Amino acid sequence: MNAVTRPLLAVEGLCVDYHVRVDGRRERLHAVSDVSFELTRGQSLGIVGESGSGKSSIARALLRLVPAASGRAYFEGRDLLQLTGRELRQLRGDLQLIFQDPLASLDPRMSVANSVAEPLRAFEPGLSAAERRARSTAMLEAVGLSATQLHRLPHEFSGGQAQRIAIARALITRPRLLVCDEPLSSLDVSIKSQIANLLMQLQGELDLSMLFISHDLGAVRFACSRVLVLYLGRVMELADREQIFRAARHPYTRALLQAAPAPTPRLARARGRPQLSGEIPSALAPPSGCVFRTRCPYAIERCARERPALRALGDSLVACHRAEELASEPELATLAG
Ligand code: SF4
Repeated sequence: MNAVTRPLLAVEGLCVDYHVRVDGRRERLHAVSDVSFELTRGQSLGIVGESGSGKSSIARALLRLVPAASGRAYFEGRDLLQLTGRELRQLRGDLQLIFQDPLASLDPRMSVANSVAEPLRAFEPGLSAAERRARSTAMLEAVGLSATQLHRLPHEFSGGQAQRIAIARALITRPRLLVCDEPLSSLDVSIKSQIANLLMQLQGELDLSMLFISHDLGAVRFACSRVLVLYLGRVMELADREQIFRAARHPYTRALLQAAPAPTPRLARARGRPQLSGEIPSALAPPSGCVFRTRCPYAIERCARERPALRALGDSLVACHRAEELASEPELATLAG
């Protein structure tokens, strides 16, 4: 593969396991199983699924915050999962993470200007103090904060402003990949769209690639060009945004769309009763065959016996034995709005 066609990030067969204690016994929990996807430069991929689907474990494994059990994650051709600690530190400026709680990435005793400038000490040690200050001021202004606020402490800011500061800190090193782990979920509704707009604007300006992890389908639809749907650590569907929101193939994707808040009462009526009932099963004892089968209205006997492979259907990748039959059902435009 040459440098022109090579994706920025190529994840192959990623597995993440956790060891947990259950009734005094040590058990292995498969949080992520055999997940593969690619991300090209400037692209944003949304990873969606309910709590417990393994979304954050993917992000954490890619950034080596938790160990991967197996798999590969090539970032510009280098396997992130095999890098030494030193190689990883050298690459950290290119890979940044935004958390759900913006204050988690900010030192409460450090002024905002210093917090934002701090990564430059590690990744661009040749800069003078004045150059660091100029870069952090410009970055904070780019995320919508004024120069008069730079010497305040993080607790003096609202949640939306704190997330802007966290974004400035993540982007100060001009990373090529930004991993956003539920970046909007702690924010008020009115602030969410401002921060989503800001991320989109900065992504375009900086030619960033983004992994956007969220349970908010509206935000994913706004911010992402491709969508990966995850259930119990496995990929159910991977497709372009329009395909997912206009004609989702997998029953789980359809159920998620149906369960999402409807923008109008007419659309809510058109959707009918939600199909997604019950809780996501424990990853310690996943169902046999298709892991979604215990909640799937289309399950047949084969679904309990045989795990569906992720396979191409049109432009989508879908893991469902009945994907072809279900594809001929009425389009789901009414679900997406
Ligand atoms: Fe439903 Fe079977 Fe398809 Fe799984 S494989 S989503 S249980 S129809």
